[in-house]
Amino acid sequence: MQRERISENVYWFQSEVYAQVTAGAITGPQWAVVIDTLAMPEETLAMRSFIEEELNVPVRYVINTHYHADHSWGNCFFPGATIIAHRLSRQVMEEKGQASLETARRQNAYFRQVKLVLPHMTFAEGTLTLRVGKKNLILMHTPGHSRDGISVFVEEDRVLFAGDAFMPLPYVVDGDLDELTATIKAIGKMGLENIIQGHGDIVLRGEIEEAVKENLNYLSAIRKAVRAAAKKRNPIEALAQIDVESCGKSRIYLGGLAEDLHKRNLRFLYRQVIAEEAQTVS
Ligand SMILES: [Zn+2]
Repeated sequence: MQRERISENVYWFQSEVYAQVTAGAITGPQWAVVIDTLAMPEETLAMRSFIEEELNVPVRYVINTHYHADHSWGNCFFPGATIIAHRLSRQVMEEKGQASLETARRQNAYFRQVKLVLPHMTFAEGTLTLRVGKKNLILMHTPGHSRDGISVFVEEDRVLFAGDAFMPLPYVVDGDLDELTATIKAIGKMGLENIIQGHGDIVLRGEIEEAVKENLNYLSAIRKAVRAAAKKRNPIEALAQIDVESCGKSRIYLGGLAEDLHKRNLRFLYRQVIAEEAQTVS
């Protein structure tokens, strides 16, 4: 697990095991807030030890930026903490969480120690503000990667923990391309010092404009490419030829996972195009 201090009392963690997934911590004089848990139990536990033993504060709150396993399945390793998320996160975790955990347990023994812990406190509209020491954490809805996505804005430092609303390769398969486009545009206008992506490295102030542009370009490129492919005689073959570079992204992003995520984006959008066409015909 990589670890970095971003500013006073603000920490960042990144997995070395799974998809460069990230988490954060903000500490106050008496307690700390954790933003997301890591994918593997041992990494979440290492993060907790660092906060509780080296920084010497207990974790009182855990914020889940969205319900996906790689961000929320470590909730159970903070037994005394209050879990905070969007109302939709709790809803989806309640509906689907147990079934996906059981599947994961069959595939990987690590997950036998995981128990699903649903958010205790949720919000659905507007923002939620949490004061930690000298910092305001403002939680806001940033959907698109998933419907329940939230980001955590550390107001004093102008740092945004964006969850998967911001990634080296935008991923829409569980969300909506238009919503993600609007979210990324809004993030681009916030005048941030850093964007903490849900996966990948920290985006620094001087890199934000370019990263926002690249992500927006990518989303419009895949939309166009999929629509064009759908019109071809053999759309599946045409789809297979749309590589990640032709949409302005590098395949080396996310430890080589980018190409796979890209292909899944394409198939998802293609199914949407087909569904839209079926609707217009009928
Ligand atoms: Zn993720």
